[in-house]
Amino acid sequence: IMAVFYGATTETVRRERQKKAGLMEQINTLKRLEAELQKQSGQDWLTGLANRRRFDEIIQQEWARARRDETPLGLLMIDIDYFKLYNDSYGHQAGDACLQQVAKTIGGVVHRPGDLSARYGGEEFVAVLPKTDAAGAALVAEKMRAAVEALRLQHVNSRVSDRVTISVGAAGMVPPEKGDPAVLIAAADQALYQAKREGRNR
Ligand code: GH3
Ligand code: MG
Ligand code: MG
Repeated sequence: IMAVFYGATTETVRRERQKKAGLMEQINTLKRLEAELQKQSGQDWLTGLANRRRFDEIIQQEWARARRDETPLGLLMIDIDYFKLYNDSYGHQAGDACLQQVAKTIGGVVHRPGDLSARYGGEEFVAVLPKTDAAGAALVAEKMRAAVEALRLQHVNSRVSDRVTISVGAAGMVPPEKGDPAVLIAAADQALYQAKREGRNR
């Protein structure tokens, strides 16, 4: 009797394990599909902002439009200050939560119809600002910097503040006859690195 009972039990356990493995596989497939769908839909899975792919499309589109209309196109490059130290201090999950909060704040500042804010990669964001020149882009950048500082997210190991801060590079131009948006992206990127060099949180 014991032998039969034991056999039945191991068989049940084996079946349950198989069922569980099957479920895990299905869950993983669903997760992969979800990630793929979000990519296709142009949304960043963590922050809900547009993703890099969507940004690449929109910047091309807006660049072409601005060239046709001879209006300036503004671009912001945003990077969180000492974010590696944030992860090191509070853990990766807290880091992700911080990214979500910063993204929400960025999205809140950039709100005109036609504006686009996107996650450019890791802890870097971008904002596309149609009909905005360099001076206008700089104003939006400062508003964004102040808004993130006002979140008062503790960052004890930051070397520039005791809270989470961002550095922003702003650029704007009327697209020339020849050339592509890479010129504008490079200009915003250079401005960002200048902000980093000159002390961050600016
Ligand atoms: P700096 O002020 O010069 O920008 O310093 P930094 O530490 O922010 O710069 P760096 O580019 O060296 O580090 C970026 C860090 O951002 C690396 C990684 O720890 C973190 N990071 C990038 N992507 C993610 C993410 O999706 N989630 C989390 N939690 N952290 C991320
Ligand atoms: Mg970075
Ligand atoms: Mg950084």
